[in-house]
Amino acid sequence: MHIETDLKLDFRDVLIRPKRSVLTSRSEAQITRTFRFRHATTGWTGLPLIASNMDTIGTFQMAASLSQSQALVALHKYYSASDLIEFFGSEASRYAFFTIGTSSDDWQKLVQVKRQVAVPMINIDVANGYTQQFLDAVVKLRDENPQAIIMAGTVVTAEMTEALIIAGADIIRVGIGSGSVCTTRDLTGVGFPQLSAVIECADAAHGLKGHVCSDGGCVVPGDIVKAIGGGADFVMLGSMLAGHAECAGEIVHESVDGRQVQKMVFYGMSSETAMNKHHGGVAEYRAAEGKTVTVPYKGEVKDTINAISGGLRSAMTYIGAEHLKEVTKRTTFIMVNAQRNTVYG
Ligand code: 5GP
Repeated sequence: MHIETDLKLDFRDVLIRPKRSVLTSRSEAQITRTFRFRHATTGWTGLPLIASNMDTIGTFQMAASLSQSQALVALHKYYSASDLIEFFGSEASRYAFFTIGTSSDDWQKLVQVKRQVAVPMINIDVANGYTQQFLDAVVKLRDENPQAIIMAGTVVTAEMTEALIIAGADIIRVGIGSGSVCTTRDLTGVGFPQLSAVIECADAAHGLKGHVCSDGGCVVPGDIVKAIGGGADFVMLGSMLAGHAECAGEIVHESVDGRQVQKMVFYGMSSETAMNKHHGGVAEYRAAEGKTVTVPYKGEVKDTINAISGGLRSAMTYIGAEHLKEVTKRTTFIMVNAQRNTVYG
């Protein structure tokens, strides 16, 4: 047994110190970025936010809306091959990842879709990125897709980030147990505070010309800025995008203080709800590692993306970063005991 005693941090443990800046207006802040990848033969330009491949969030409708802001969607893996063929023939496919797990059905579906249309971005998604089987799958995926932008995860430490990049991934998804509807930490005791995980994995990835995507734990736009400040090249969002018109969640009405409010169902991909829906129930050898909640209905997602973009631009003027790529260099975190004034909630 071994104990690491240096304190690992979450978004709520820090704030970003403001710095003198020559930017005179938020409109000067460039929130899109151009990427060249370690393995993929093509680059990508856009707003590096990714809607999570949860089945309520990673929808075609979400992709259509986010592509208008040049932001990305990792499509969930429960669409049929014919629906995916139609989607990947459209404009929005430039902003979408095709998601697979390690099952042979998922891989066959990818092959089937690729026979008809190009699939330039692939997300290989497993809950635990630490197995040899997963590393082997990434090697095979790169072999079969030499040109694609491949994202793989999730992990939270430098050595596995390096191993996955060397195996063939371009972008490593970082985050275990930080998700809003995730119960992994309660159930298993395993996890890693999200900001420190991003800082450590980004440092490892960037040394190898790889990139990282911070996945899970963002609650407010400032958390996205902190993830980018910590070195995240991309940020994946679940709960911040939940409850919108573009989501696939069921709409329900709940009574709050005697008033009827519209809410939407949102659940983890390892929750009982998801396992009942896609796998005919929770298998006997495993426990659900996700929960089911209802979230306020928020209308169109473009308003939320505008709020996030506004936060990002404002943060960039506070720290003097004209381009997104400069945010990490311009970031000094200060450790804090409290984030904000809570007099009014
Ligand atoms: P959020 O942005 O909601 O905090 O986190 C979203 C992320 O939580 C997803 O992208 C995914 O990595 C993770 N996640 C989604 N569903 C589950 C689940 O049921 N269990 C666990 N452990 N993680 C989940």
